[in-house]
Amino acid sequence: MSENKDPHLTGNAVEDVKFVYDFTEGNKDLKDLLGGKGANLAEMTNLGLPVPPGFTITTEACKVYLDSGEAPAALRDEVSAHLDALERRMGKKLGQADDPLLVSVRSGAKFSMPGMMDTVLNIGLSDASVKGLAKQAGDERFAWDSYRRLIQMFGKTVLDVDGDLFEDALEAAKAAKKVEVDTELEAADLKKLVTTFKKIVKKEAGRDFPQDPRAQMDLAIRAVFDSWNTERAKLYRRQERIPHDLGTAVNVCSMVFGNLGPDSGTGVAFTRDPASGQQGVYGDYLQNAQGEDVVAGIRNTVPLAELERIDKKSYDQLMQIMETLENHYLDLCDIEFTIERGTLWMLQTRVGKRTAGAAFRIATQLVDQGLIDEAEALQRVTGAQLAQLMFPRFDEDAKVRQLGRGIAASPGAAVGKAVFDSYTAIKWSRSGEKVILIRRETNPDDLDGMIAAEGILTSRGGKTSHAAVVARGMGKTCVCGAEELEVDTKRRCLTAPGGVVVEEGDLVSIDGSSGKVYLGEVPVVPSPVVEYFEGRMHAGADDADELVEAVHRIMAFADRKRRLRVRANADNAEDALRARRFGAQGIGLCRTEHMFLGDRRELVERLILADSQAEREESLAQLLPLQKRDFVELFEAMDGLPVTVRLLDPPLHEFLPDITELSVRVALAESRKDPHENDLRLLQAVHRLHEQNPMLGLRGVRLGLVIPGLFTMQVRAIAEAAAERRAAKGDPRAEIMIPLVGTVQELEIVREEADQVIAEVQAATGTELRLAIGTMIELPRAALTAGQIAEAAEFFSFGTNDLTQTVWGFSRDDVEASFFTAYLEKGIFGVSPFETIDQDGVGSLVRSAVKAGRETRPDLKLGVCGEHGGDPESVHFFHEVGLDYVSCSPFRIPVARLEAGRAASSSRGSDHR
Ligand code: PEP
Ligand code: MG
Repeated sequence: MSENKDPHLTGNAVEDVKFVYDFTEGNKDLKDLLGGKGANLAEMTNLGLPVPPGFTITTEACKVYLDSGEAPAALRDEVSAHLDALERRMGKKLGQADDPLLVSVRSGAKFSMPGMMDTVLNIGLSDASVKGLAKQAGDERFAWDSYRRLIQMFGKTVLDVDGDLFEDALEAAKAAKKVEVDTELEAADLKKLVTTFKKIVKKEAGRDFPQDPRAQMDLAIRAVFDSWNTERAKLYRRQERIPHDLGTAVNVCSMVFGNLGPDSGTGVAFTRDPASGQQGVYGDYLQNAQGEDVVAGIRNTVPLAELERIDKKSYDQLMQIMETLENHYLDLCDIEFTIERGTLWMLQTRVGKRTAGAAFRIATQLVDQGLIDEAEALQRVTGAQLAQLMFPRFDEDAKVRQLGRGIAASPGAAVGKAVFDSYTAIKWSRSGEKVILIRRETNPDDLDGMIAAEGILTSRGGKTSHAAVVARGMGKTCVCGAEELEVDTKRRCLTAPGGVVVEEGDLVSIDGSSGKVYLGEVPVVPSPVVEYFEGRMHAGADDADELVEAVHRIMAFADRKRRLRVRANADNAEDALRARRFGAQGIGLCRTEHMFLGDRRELVERLILADSQAEREESLAQLLPLQKRDFVELFEAMDGLPVTVRLLDPPLHEFLPDITELSVRVALAESRKDPHENDLRLLQAVHRLHEQNPMLGLRGVRLGLVIPGLFTMQVRAIAEAAAERRAAKGDPRAEIMIPLVGTVQELEIVREEADQVIAEVQAATGTELRLAIGTMIELPRAALTAGQIAEAAEFFSFGTNDLTQTVWGFSRDDVEASFFTAYLEKGIFGVSPFETIDQDGVGSLVRSAVKAGRETRPDLKLGVCGEHGGDPESVHFFHEVGLDYVSCSPFRIPVARLEAGRAASSSRGSDHR
């Protein structure tokens, strides 16, 4: 390590920085500085637990090294001082020839990155001290085995020698001796192996294995710093969304040995079962071994309970320590320990990873034990874990044949026969078949097919493509954008890489949680948690599942804590009823476009084609009673709760036939000299309405302004439906929402017409209707002029799908499949902004619109109905900026309730109101 002064670190201010902490100096809250391992070793030391003495080099030192290429100037002296203290305490010097102090040098970042960075054990051994170790331990074999392990680990991790060369030499030594396992190699064999290993180092690294113990230590420290930036570590961080600038700490710890004979060993333990949360004795133990032997699986471990028989004293002490740790950390801990000749040593502890189910169980168990309160219990679980528990899963033990992989768009596990068009999906499902609808992409026409299918697979489109959004809304499994699968809807088949062809009727299985697509039927297990939310399984019942019980209690904690209300995006009575069962407090978005499809499409077509007012009015008059019936059903299902109905939003061409198909039909008819009058008119209209960028074209409020009578027909249907429900002694609470408004003038015009229609219905029915009129805020201009828009709006609902699309200039139907993977890989963002709200950009517009809107109208009701309304991180943001509610698809409601509760109990919350 260089002693040069680092240019960044001259001057008094920096000289005060402390780069090395003894284990007695740190504590568990210093993870940023000491890494998770270092902080917890310090905590255990201070609890009086048997931790081998040592010290931690901070992440700050690592950061200086990574930034400048040199360790901080002060580091060497600080390490020397701490090493001195350690040597005095242990009564021996690092690498001392007759009785060497040996140390391990281990990485340890703030967040656990298992196996991603480096560790070197047995530092301090050399040609001289190996003999001293043999004498002290009274075991020559052990000393030579420790030395060969050092050269092997040091060679591989510090000197970059190919690890296989050492493994091959070890295998050759075993073969020469005709033995199976390395414990059968004797001292003389290992001594020879040391010579071979040293030769490998010399040849491959071009230098001798360093004999100076301090040089070994310094080089190992530097290698650990470097291991922060290996490709695999970088990849891991990207996947786990761990920031790249944290750096790792380095722990230098005096060695204890588990490989000193049958009264020694090493093991791992959990204070509770990480799969179920049950308290008990969970872990594995390996006699006469060092830590890496457990990982390498060289010999079989025994269950931890066996330790009671092998070494009762150590076992009892370990049980005691586990209890101390649980009561101290108030959580499941995992532990690594070593027993050296009957003495127990703790090498690591941390709050342990657990399955989603165990997280819920453990949180409630700890509440019952009086160890944590309800607010803390909410911090112990996440919405993502709840979502995981809600989807049926493929049986993990099943044999599978993977065809390819797409974007995990809507979780779940679905199996069915491949069909390539909606018509077949409906036909087959009516005759009792389960089907997977496979399309290149879906459009509103596919809705019935999607409803009929078990799951949806597309080869194009991202997480906010039509298929993904609709599937999530229905709680239906969906994998989209599986570009490696070639979908040929004409020939009704799909070709996977390698040439496997799936024909119509072949069984396929899709996993919407991983995006994987399989050939054949993979067995599925249902979710008891959904059965519970659906009301088909009851917490408290005799046979209630313990997990269901735990989920039920945590949901109650969340509901008690949360400030945000949770509504559903739903547009039919069935979804509304499910949403209610799942805990929705209203509908935040009813997309009326779904009501204009199927049989009614023809009426819409006639409306679009109408040449005269009379024709237009006739189609509107036919649509009116149908719309009204939709709303009556919806208001009845949501009786007593608000229902926000959005007037028609999508571009009109979505209701018209496909331009190419229609052109071909007309051309063929013309060639037969038999043109069909209606087709010709239709084709003209389709041409007229064709847009290059339909999402930026004639849609939303613009439709209402250019197609006379369309919006007023919808408003009349809402008002009459509300009056009818009132007459039936119901409690309808409709709200009318105008989409895609960019300026207050648009809203004012629509509002005036709507007010007039409502007044007419009130007069005609003699019912007073309190119908709030508000708008979506989903264009940057709307957000920027929110203060003006609030003059004409009683509520805002942020349409964060369109707002993200327009703020970033990202087409929501295309970009995720086309280049988001590259953006994610390059770290431009850690997650798609269509999934988690981009707080700096889109979020800042939301924040300022909230402020401006409330300045104009203090009682302005504020919500969000974009997909972000059901995303955990985004829910916290909406809580923080002071929205009144989030609205999401029915299946996300429990997740939103939970996260709203977590947000309210993790912060002081927002007191904007
Ligand atoms: C939105 O844009 O966020 C929204 C909810 O509307 P849609 O997805 O229907 O465009
Ligand atoms: Mg929108």
